Formats: sequence, C-alpha cells, structure tokens
Amino acid sequence: MSLMQIAEPGQSQKPHQKKFAAGIDLGTTHSLVAIVRSGEAIVLADHTEQKLLPSVVHYPLVGAPIVGKAAYDMAVSDPQNTIASVKRMMGRGIEDVTHLGAQSPYRFTDKRDGMPELITNQGIVSPVQVSAEILRCLSCRSKQALGAELDGVVITVPAYFDDAQRQATRDAAKIVGLNVLRLINEPTAAALAYGLDSAKEQVIAIFDLGGGTFDISILRLHKGIFEVLATGGDSALGGDDFDREVASWLLARCHDRKSSGGDNLDPQVQRYLFNQARSIKEQLSSVDSVQVELDFTAKSNASIKWSGTFLRTDFESMISGFVKRTLMSCRRTLKDAEIDIEEIGEVIMVGGSTRVPLVREKVAEYFQCEPMVSINPDEVVAIGAALQADILIGNRPDSEMLLLDVLPLSLGIETMGGLVEKIIPRNTPIPVSRAQDFTTYQDGQTAMKLHVVQGDRELVADCRSLAEFKLSGIPAMVAGAAHIRVTFQVDADGLLSVTAMEQSTEVESHIVVKPSYGLTDDDIISMINDSMQHAEDDVHQRRLKEQQVEAKRLIEATRAALADNGSDLLTEAEQGALNDALAELELTRLKDDYLAIKNQLDELNKQSEFFASKRMNISINEALVGSTIDELAASSRPTRQTQD
Ligand code: ADP
Ligand code: MG
Repeated sequence: MSLMQIAEPGQSQKPHQKKFAAGIDLGTTHSLVAIVRSGEAIVLADHTEQKLLPSVVHYPLVGAPIVGKAAYDMAVSDPQNTIASVKRMMGRGIEDVTHLGAQSPYRFTDKRDGMPELITNQGIVSPVQVSAEILRCLSCRSKQALGAELDGVVITVPAYFDDAQRQATRDAAKIVGLNVLRLINEPTAAALAYGLDSAKEQVIAIFDLGGGTFDISILRLHKGIFEVLATGGDSALGGDDFDREVASWLLARCHDRKSSGGDNLDPQVQRYLFNQARSIKEQLSSVDSVQVELDFTAKSNASIKWSGTFLRTDFESMISGFVKRTLMSCRRTLKDAEIDIEEIGEVIMVGGSTRVPLVREKVAEYFQCEPMVSINPDEVVAIGAALQADILIGNRPDSEMLLLDVLPLSLGIETMGGLVEKIIPRNTPIPVSRAQDFTTYQDGQTAMKLHVVQGDRELVADCRSLAEFKLSGIPAMVAGAAHIRVTFQVDADGLLSVTAMEQSTEVESHIVVKPSYGLTDDDIISMINDSMQHAEDDVHQRRLKEQQVEAKRLIEATRAALADNGSDLLTEAEQGALNDALAELELTRLKDDYLAIKNQLDELNKQSEFFASKRMNISINEALVGSTIDELAASSRPTRQTQD
C-alpha cells in the first residue's frame, strides 16, 4: 500500500462529520482492538472485561465459527477443528508450513501451490478466512462500543511481513467488509503510541517478546517518518518457551508420573499443566514467590498433584538462556542496521513477555538505557494503530503526527533524456489536481509517449514506472510550438488519473492508475530515503541530462536547417565552421561533462546566430508542410515548455 485511502470511494469527507476508526493488533497468540475516544486511545474489552482476544478459531459441526477464549478451550478436545497461530500461515506457501503440519494437529489439503488450506468441520478454510473470523469478532466488539459501524481500520503487521503476507492480511479484512486505511508495522505502531513521531530525530529499538515470537526492530525517525533500518528476532522464541520450562519443572516435582500419563502426558493433563505454568509465570512478574497447588484428574483418570513454593529466582535461572538468545538477536540486528548501541535513543518494550522483570533488567543492561514500559506492553501496538487510524480517517485535521493523508511519493512524467518532471510533489495533501504544459521535441512531431512515474529521484531509471500511454493527433508544428497540457488528478482514494490534451485541437488521451498498487510502506520509506541520500548527486545528473538533451536538440535543428537552406544562405566557409562546431558538440554531448557541453552549446549558439537571423526571413512553416514524420519523432517524450 502506499497512497492513503482516506475516504470511501467516491465519497469525500465533510469537515465536521465524525468518523469511526479503530486500530487492530492482529497477533499470533492474541489480538486486540483499540479506538480513540475524546483524544485518548483505549483498548476495548469483551463483556467479561477481557481485552486480549486469543487468536484462535474453532469450527464447530454446526453454527458459526467460535473465536477467542471459548475456541482456545476447544483446542484439547478438538484440535483438528481449532486453528491457532494462523498468522504464521498468512501469505505463506505450503512448503513454509509443512513443518508446522508435522507437529500441528491440522489437516491440510493436498493443494501444492499458494497458501495452505485447512480441512475443518465446516469444509476447507484458508488462513485468510481464519484471520477474517478474528477480525470479524474484533469489528463486532468495536461496533458495540461505538454504537456504529467502523469507517476504517488500521491493522498492524510485523515489520518483516512481505507483500504476500500483507496482501493476505488485507484480503482477510476485505472478507468481513473492513475498510483498511493502512497496514502499519507493529514496531512503528508502538513508537506512535509513545508519541515518538513528534520527538527528536533518533534511532529507536523495539523489543517485542510475545507468546511464540521474538522481534527486534531498529527504526530511524527522520522528518516524521519511521524508516525500518533492520529487523531480526526468532520466530520460535517467546513466553510459550517459559511456560514449557515451568511446566517441566512442575512435572519433575510430581512424584507419581504414571498417574499423569507417564512420558506421553495425557493431553488434558498437559493443558492443565501448561495453564498452571503460565499463571505461575505471570504471577512471578509481580511477586517473588508463588504458592502452587496442583490437583487435577482428567477424563482418562490420569491425574496430577503437587503443592509447594515456586520462587522467582528459580524461574529466572530457567529462562536466562532464552533471554540471552534475545540479546544475541539484538546484537545481530544492530549490526545489520549498522548502528552502535550508544546511538539508540529509546528502547520500547512490546509483548506480554516483556513484563518479566529479568527480561527488562537484561534489556536495560544491554542497551544501557531504561526501556519504555509505561504503556501496557500487550496493548501498545493496538494503541498506536488506533491513534493512526484516527488521523487517517480525518478526525484530527490539525494533527502534527505523520502527514499521512498526503502523497507519500512524488508523481511525475518522463521527459526527454530520461528525466522526471514532477507534477505533484510528495507530501501534497490529497485529493489534488495539478497541470503542467509540455511541448514537442521535434519539428512536425504528431505523437507523444507519456510515461507516468512515482518517486523522488531525478532520473526515470531510479523511479517506479506506473503507466505509459500515448497522445496522438498532435497537429504538425515546429518543435516547441505545441502546447500539451498534462493534468494529474489524485482522488481521496489515491487513484490517479492522467490526462494529456493538445490545446489547439483539444485532442486528448487519458489513463487511470492506482499508484499505491503493490507498494508497501517500507518501499515508500526506502524510496524516500534513497532520494534524500542521492539528492545532490541527482541534481548534477539532472543538469547534465538536460544539457545533453538541449545539445541533441540544437544539433538536430541546426543540421535540419543546414540541409534545408544552408547552401543558399551561407558561404562554404561558414557552413564548414558550423559543421565543425556541430561535430565537436556531437562528441562532447556523449561525455558526462556538464561544463564542457555547456561551453560548446554556447559556442554553437553564437556561431549559428547569423544563420538563424537569415532564416528568420523565410517562412519556416512553408518548409514544414508535407514533411514526413519519422517514428522516432512520433514517439519522443514530452519536452518541458520553455517560457518565451
Ligand atoms: P503475541 O504478540 O505473540 O500475540 P503477546 O504480546 O500477547 O503475544 O504476549 C503473550 C505472552 O505474554 C504469553 O506468553 C503470556 O504468558 C505472556 N505474558 C502476559 N502477561 C505476562 C506477565 N504478567 N508476565 C509474564 N508473561 C506474561
Ligand atoms: Mg504481538
């Protein structure tokens, strides 16, 4: 995605109309929805005051799919129809998830291409459909809280999500009729929640330790835009590992292993044990020790019984290896980002597992600064998304946060020499319409190719090509005489239409493009950064190319004039001198030497002045009538209209 869709198609927003938007954290283990109310972001709870919705969907034999805690509870008794951690399958190929298939209870279809499909009680479902159920549930939650339908949502995705994974997320939203204003990266959302976008320019680390995954992202805030410098982590490291350690410690303390099902633990006992382990772990984040009472008998009669004290210090020694691994990932990622620890301005803690005191302590020690923890680590991403959604929907017109209802990248057209002429600069608020006049490059040119590009670099080769179309039927005129008005119009949805019209005959040609298509936010950010990095270089390139185009034009025009009536108007010596100057310029033109070309251009201009004035007395138009137009001329690119 890239151009913002700030209003529904064809529907421009009335200034005082309040719109409803929400931010959704579509997580691997939990999902959340948040809205902004009276300027403050709040996470919405269900009727049992639960804010975290387990990202689990159960497909019963009859009735609608069940989502959340009730579905989670079905995992033991009906694993095949209870889909958890679907985020790991989003936008992935079957080969990416077969390793899941080996240990996961799910039945996959034998489809070999594209995303895996799951066989459930209710038939075949795709990961996109499963995610859609989670989104539907969150959307209902917000509808109840707002008393209105949502006008738009911002959904967060991991920074490392590729195009396919992002598209799958969008598709899931589409299934349930949610209007996605934007997908934003989870670490960016966390930074927004802390208001860091309006802070000083700095490098930020986002340490996200969730249930099953660890993500570390290094962002640079520059001119209100977050650039992802590097991401890293471990897709199989998280709070679940801590639970497992606690569970096996507990199991080792149960004297009668047989009654619990021996080495092949009864699934119900196992689930009980894991739930207990998680609860103990979570309590140990706020107390130093927990009094444990295990007592459970499964349907199979397998049972488990133990009572005793669990110390935080014991827990810490169990998990210290995992914590070390997270820090090793941090080191690698900092290296990828080419950032020294001292350059990190802030560290933000995200994910439930960053509540563990040892994690906080080690992170502080490693980064040599106190991490930001004041916002609930499992809510911070949803909160940032909600704040962003509120802006994108237009509820905060004077907001200074990220200028997002604007063009993220400049739009322009290719001119002679492979240069880009920007028609609408980046950061222009949309909707917008801008026009610019262009002209023909060659005498008698009757057609023109228009190449629409997106980006902020000076050369077409460094920008992104959006569309190409042709304007034909331009009446034959001398080069530079035709007026072709090119109009760019971007509607509130980010849809761009380009019209080229020859002013005297009003012949026109038109094209509609969606500039955002296939561009991720990160693409945009990296394109913008490229343009900043190359700004100086680009200016030189542009000057050079312009000079080369001008040289070519002058050579061709002078040659044509010489062929036309050179021998009538000039002495042989004059013709010879002019031809020499032409040949010299022809050679210099091919060199990448701006000054040399400029000097010779001036020289040729001086030399041909006399010839030009003689030709003034002859009707140029007469000479043009009936002249044939070669293909080259017909397909040449527009030339910037020079002011006379
Ligand atoms: P995800 O982003 O992967 O969906 P979350 O950010 O919701 O995951 O984190 C879930 C993990 O956080 C679980 O392992 C949970 O046990 C753990 N967690 C939640 N609260 C605490 C706490 N108070 N202390 C330790 N771990 C916690
Ligand atoms: Mg998360």
